[in-house]
Amino acid sequence: CGIVGIVGHQPVSERLVDALKRLEYRGYDSAGVATIHDGALDRRRAEGKLFNLEARLKEEPLAGTIGIAHTRWATHGAPTERNAHPHFTDGIAVVHNGIIENFAEVKDELSAAGAAFQTETDTEVVAQLLAKYRRDGMGRREAMHAMLRRVRGAYALAVLFEDDPSTIMAARNGPPLAIGHGNGEMFLGSDAIALAPFTNDITYLNDGDWAVVGKTGAHIFDIDGNVVTRPRHVSTAAA
Ligand code: GLU
Repeated sequence: CGIVGIVGHQPVSERLVDALKRLEYRGYDSAGVATIHDGALDRRRAEGKLFNLEARLKEEPLAGTIGIAHTRWATHGAPTERNAHPHFTDGIAVVHNGIIENFAEVKDELSAAGAAFQTETDTEVVAQLLAKYRRDGMGRREAMHAMLRRVRGAYALAVLFEDDPSTIMAARNGPPLAIGHGNGEMFLGSDAIALAPFTNDITYLNDGDWAVVGKTGAHIFDIDGNVVTRPRHVSTAAA
């Protein structure tokens, strides 16, 4: 399982799939990619190997210079296209590796308040919570922070908000997540190996960290919302 993301100035979908290939060694059962193009989120997903996702993208290419992508190792919900990430709720796209331990409780609460869940995954509560907090009037960062305080479990997360086509939000608690610094482009990946073709200038998030990643840099916060600084490393992973 793995996560990659690019906030860039060149088309991203092919590069995202190439980066996912570098995470194949972790194992997975399905995959997907989402971008924002002309102000709208769109996605392609497929069961099985990345070859299937590539075939989908060939049939129906996905434009856009910002995107997130995922290989899934299903823990909750069968490995179907419907359960494949990215999950979409009300203009919000989410990819997740790990397990949201309290998803059943959160899902019951949101369902009782009228949320219509589309998948059997634990992950969808992340997208549904973010959507609820936005409906309640919170800004994107405020919603992200509130969601992170509501969920418990292990996660690497990447989130796109359709109303901000120049930012990826990310969070880490357990599974590793690295931010890559490029030249007018920024990257996100489960490890530096995935990002090696793009950059070797890497910042790892600590457990409990979350980040707002734009084209020219990232702002990192701890779980209390304080701004934190994490070191930049020169990765030796081979491109
Ligand atoms: N628990 C999530 C799911 O089953 C994410 C699994 C993963 O780490 O890929 O969809």
